[in-house]
Amino acid sequence: MGGDTQSQQHHWQGVLSSALDAVGHTPLIRLDRIAKEEGLKCNMLGKCEFFSAGGSVKDRIAKRMVEHAEKKGLLIPGQSIVIEPTIDACMIGIGLALACALKGYQCIITLPAKMSLEKEVMLRALGAEIVRTPWDSAESHIGIARKLQKFIPDAVILDQYSNPNNPLAHYYGTYEEIIYSLKTSDLPKKDISLLVAGAGTGGTITGIARAIRDNEKPLVNGDAESHRRTTVLAVDPEGSILGGGEPGNYQVEGIGYDFFPEVLDPNPPVVDEWIKTVDEESFAMTKRLIRKEALFVGGSSGSALAGAIRYLHTSAGLSIANDPTANVVVILPDGVRNYMSKPWFLETAKSTTENGEAEDLRDVIKVV
Ligand code: PMP
Repeated sequence: MGGDTQSQQHHWQGVLSSALDAVGHTPLIRLDRIAKEEGLKCNMLGKCEFFSAGGSVKDRIAKRMVEHAEKKGLLIPGQSIVIEPTIDACMIGIGLALACALKGYQCIITLPAKMSLEKEVMLRALGAEIVRTPWDSAESHIGIARKLQKFIPDAVILDQYSNPNNPLAHYYGTYEEIIYSLKTSDLPKKDISLLVAGAGTGGTITGIARAIRDNEKPLVNGDAESHRRTTVLAVDPEGSILGGGEPGNYQVEGIGYDFFPEVLDPNPPVVDEWIKTVDEESFAMTKRLIRKEALFVGGSSGSALAGAIRYLHTSAGLSIANDPTANVVVILPDGVRNYMSKPWFLETAKSTTENGEAEDLRDVIKVV
């Protein structure tokens, strides 16, 4: 498949017509300090989605779903209302609210879960309505969205869980941006040895992986070197069933579910392997990314990198870990500014005293 017109431009050039033009085109940044601490010789590269206009990996899909619906005549600017049922505190709401604010659609998000204060405030600031739905049925957020759609003329549900434009936004956008960054870099090889991403709807990993597979050279006469195949690793929190295991509770937001979304293609040849992570390692790695690499990433970024590093330390990952020409691309889906009020992040304001006890820095500052 060829590229589409939206993804041909990889830089921000000149003056942009609106914040929608500042969606995507995010930088691929070396994670050299953490790589060195871990003894990894490969090039660890983070695709930093918090640089996108709405602050996450979901901006591209929101833009593409809205523009595709406009082209089909389903959405009429200044008239239609976009309703999106979300199950959790996924960043799709903010991406959609951003697109709707600029294009003049009212936006309604229905969700049963509690979302972080920062995301809720930002949604309201963008003019979106939030409709809380009861927990009594797993389908309640969809049921209520459908009921709203019945009563509101011109209401449209784009539905990221089944909309093919979700993975396609990554097939064309995110994948092409990664390849453009690699091709214009001074790295010795310009391909991806290992792609690592968490899965929520699965749109990110499915879309990028399909594009990787479609661009991989076929195996010629069993010549493995002419056919450097990318390993695709999906990261999933304990408590989600996507990568196996029992449903349960976990704190990290935006990844994992207790059902399989339609847009996720979880098996080979798309996804090669799954790795499970726990909250503790995800939040510790998030803080490490901030402290060591000065990247303002959110919790699911910590999960992705923690999963990547654990895989690289296994026998399956060793040949990539020890290859200075190998490129490991880790998707870092959003920024920590979405989670500043969360206990796991506020903990960062504590320092450790000489006797090893945590001390709240704010109290120290007051004394000084
Ligand atoms: N991280 C965060 C913070 C998210 O909001 C999402 C979206 N659910 C993801 C990761 C995973 O993205 P995807 O839905 O494309 O799998």
